[in-house]
Amino acid sequence: MLIDANEVEDGALVRTDLCVIGAGAAGITLARALAGPELDVVLVESGGLTREAESDALQEAVNLDARYPIAASRSRVFGGSTSHWGGLCLPLDADDFRPHSWVADSGWPLQRADLEPYYAQALPIIDLPRIYRAADVRVDEEMHPPLLGAADAAFVPLVWLKSPPTRMGTKYRDEVTRSDHLRCYVHATASELIPSRYGNRIERLEVRTLGGRGVRVVARDYVLAAGGIENARLLLLSDSVLDRGIGNQHDLVGRCFMDHLNQVVGAMTLVSSGGSTSFQEEHVMERRLHGVDASQFGFATTAALRAEHRLLACSLNAVPSQEPDPSAAAVEDLLAGPGGGASEGVRTGRRYVLYTVAEQTPNRESRVFLRPERDPLGLRKVAVDLRITPADTRSVRRSLELFGSALARTGHGRVRIRDVDDAAWHVLAGHHMGTTRMADDPGRGVTDRDGKVHGVANLHVAGSSLFPTGGFANPTLTIVALALRQAARLRAGAPRAPELRGGGPETTNRPGGTN
Ligand SMILES: Cc1cc2nc3c(=O)[nH]c(=O)nc-3n(C[C@H](O)[C@H](O)[C@H](O)COP(=O)(O)OP(=O)(O)OC[C@H]3O[C@@H](n4cnc5c(N)ncnc54)[C@H](O)[C@@H]3O)c2cc1C
Repeated sequence: MLIDANEVEDGALVRTDLCVIGAGAAGITLARALAGPELDVVLVESGGLTREAESDALQEAVNLDARYPIAASRSRVFGGSTSHWGGLCLPLDADDFRPHSWVADSGWPLQRADLEPYYAQALPIIDLPRIYRAADVRVDEEMHPPLLGAADAAFVPLVWLKSPPTRMGTKYRDEVTRSDHLRCYVHATASELIPSRYGNRIERLEVRTLGGRGVRVVARDYVLAAGGIENARLLLLSDSVLDRGIGNQHDLVGRCFMDHLNQVVGAMTLVSSGGSTSFQEEHVMERRLHGVDASQFGFATTAALRAEHRLLACSLNAVPSQEPDPSAAAVEDLLAGPGGGASEGVRTGRRYVLYTVAEQTPNRESRVFLRPERDPLGLRKVAVDLRITPADTRSVRRSLELFGSALARTGHGRVRIRDVDDAAWHVLAGHHMGTTRMADDPGRGVTDRDGKVHGVANLHVAGSSLFPTGGFANPTLTIVALALRQAARLRAGAPRAPELRGGGPETTNRPGGTN
């Protein structure tokens, strides 16, 4: 059921088995997966059912780098950022989970195989077909040969999937409204998690509304799913018992904040010869074969190439362009061959803009942290200090150079590299990662491999703040898959909540409750 927290009696005590904070992709997935006759779930959402300026004001951050458009990247509303996401999806690659000697603090405590079954379950939740590898996509290779040849060891073609894009708030609102086992409180902002005296369990969640109400939620388990920035903020705000906040004994909460470098880095011109009219990747894009994204195609560096050149993960994506590209002439010269004169079948170059979605190095100086300024509920704001390092930009440049060389060797086209000055690099992705990173060692991560906060028995985190490294894939498919994995583990280890006592009017879904 849906409840407006502004209509709940001030001081109310809500009891439940599981309290999920934040109704975005992660929170809605977890709450839906777990709510049922065996498990009562309360979902606490700060926003309303539609976007409101008053709710958005609660997430206003102090941005320390004007190149990073933080304000436009989040929505305080039921459904979270899926109310404005683009819907481009790919799973992470097996290599994205591995530690790399040339990337400090890299390596997940999970492997791709651990997420495999959950990726499959995640697909229908965000209306995706199946995961395709380029090898699964069958086309007439004589008419449409692969751009870089059959099996290039340096670059792998990408088959980006496209969600409609699914708006989680719109898609799942009726189901939440009808549920007898899931209560979603909207206009309910989690303001502090209160731990026990020694900080090893959460005893209650304090919730406030802009209408001046205060509600307490007492649960057996809590899942923080408030997005990559707010997850860290709430842990840091929860400092009335532990003065550094919860899960922050090693000063890691909010650190290693990462996004994806997302920028136009060049242009590409392709020319077919012989009987072919387009390359395999163009054909798949144009025909939207298998429901893949129809606006672009791309290539990623392989694990072998990354190891050889000590690179971060990087994808280079081609979007059709009408802009004149000086390299077009160079392509036609190239194809004309040493004897001069373009051969029969050489067509005008097809032009593309090349943009990157690329990984950043985990960097402890790149972070979100609390500021003295306060939001309209009196909660301290966060400062967002996203750092782009020379290692990040060097890696993209080198990947692009290597791609340009690989393409030139095929004779199918040319890449023109756009020289991006270091100061001009920016991030437009809105993928907030790393601030509660997973690691088996509490000295290297805030959460363990299941997303449980180290040292706190009943507090879990969901969302991309868990990612120790980001790969190049957009994060939402992995966010949903990870949330499903967490739901399975929470369900499996579900001993009943001990009786907890509190004052004030109570609401519960259990028989005999007042709600
Ligand atoms: C412009 C744009 C385009 C994007 N395109 C893509 C794309 O193509 N592909 C892709 O994979 N990803 C994309 N993303 C990223 C994607 O939207 C996010 O990764 C994803 O939605 C994050 O889900 P989440 O549930 O972790 O967090 P959120 O969606 O941020 O949800 C968190 C929820 O918690 C609530 N909340 C916050 N604080 C509190 C609090 N204190 N108390 C209670 N509730 C709280 C918020 O209101 C929100 O509903 C895009 C992002 C942007 C900005």
